[in-house]
Amino acid sequence: MRIFDPHIHMTSRTTTDYEAMYDAGVRALVEPAFWLGQPRTSVGSFVDYFDALVGWEPFRAAQFGIRHHCAIALNPKEANDPRCAGILDELPRYLEKDGVVAVGEVGYDAMTPAEDEAFTRQLALAAEHGLPAMVHTPHRDKAAGTRRTLDVVAASKLAPEMVVVDHLNELTVAMVLEAGCWAGFSVYPDTKMDEERMVAILREHGTERIMVNSAADWGRSDPLKTRRTGEAMLAAGFSDTDVDRVLWQNPVAFFAQSGRLDLSSEAAGEGTFEGSFEGNSVLRGVRKED
Ligand SMILES: [Zn+2]
Repeated sequence: MRIFDPHIHMTSRTTTDYEAMYDAGVRALVEPAFWLGQPRTSVGSFVDYFDALVGWEPFRAAQFGIRHHCAIALNPKEANDPRCAGILDELPRYLEKDGVVAVGEVGYDAMTPAEDEAFTRQLALAAEHGLPAMVHTPHRDKAAGTRRTLDVVAASKLAPEMVVVDHLNELTVAMVLEAGCWAGFSVYPDTKMDEERMVAILREHGTERIMVNSAADWGRSDPLKTRRTGEAMLAAGFSDTDVDRVLWQNPVAFFAQSGRLDLSSEAAGEGTFEGSFEGNSVLRGVRKED
């Protein structure tokens, strides 16, 4: 099973997670920029974080045979903090960088005017830079928040197929697919969406334009939930091809719209990056495909 996790915050995870993810079949991922739990107090704090997402973290992932890409944005929660707003002016230079395959996470947390402003501005930036956008939906008032999200996307210059609306559930999936956007699902250990509910959604809506992620971060979460969902799909009678479409081909097709997805060694099924990552092979674990 080859897996592309389209939404995971590796900055908050350990090397043990990287090893377990590789063993489970994860070969590529996208790490969107988000809130660190501890509020940031200045623009410089974002700059250092973004530099780590385009520099250090891809290097760290490569040591474990996993290709790391990122999405860059001012997250919805911190869009409400005036100390952070200045980062919007710094975004364009990051959106030019090779490892940046989307603008995200953007969207709504509490649906405030400041979030409206940041969301609209960042969708415009995505359109200007020819990048897809990863849109977070609020955990409270999810149906209303998702509806409003789709209205904002429709009013933007970004085509719906360039947008994934994430953290969906049974109540929000249909409206997102009808709008022409991609539907993202975060599978969590014991709250919100789980793998059995995910299988039921795939039965009802099919596998087209659907992506599954672990959204693992500093909270209680499980970076292997992508694998567990693939196993639940197989147990429910889905084919290997269906699993590959959801866990690999769909995220590849979505992020390839950036023109920057680089999966050279994964596509060949080699699973390692012999001599191919910034010329550094010293720290890389030597691994073989199971
Ligand atoms: Zn996230």
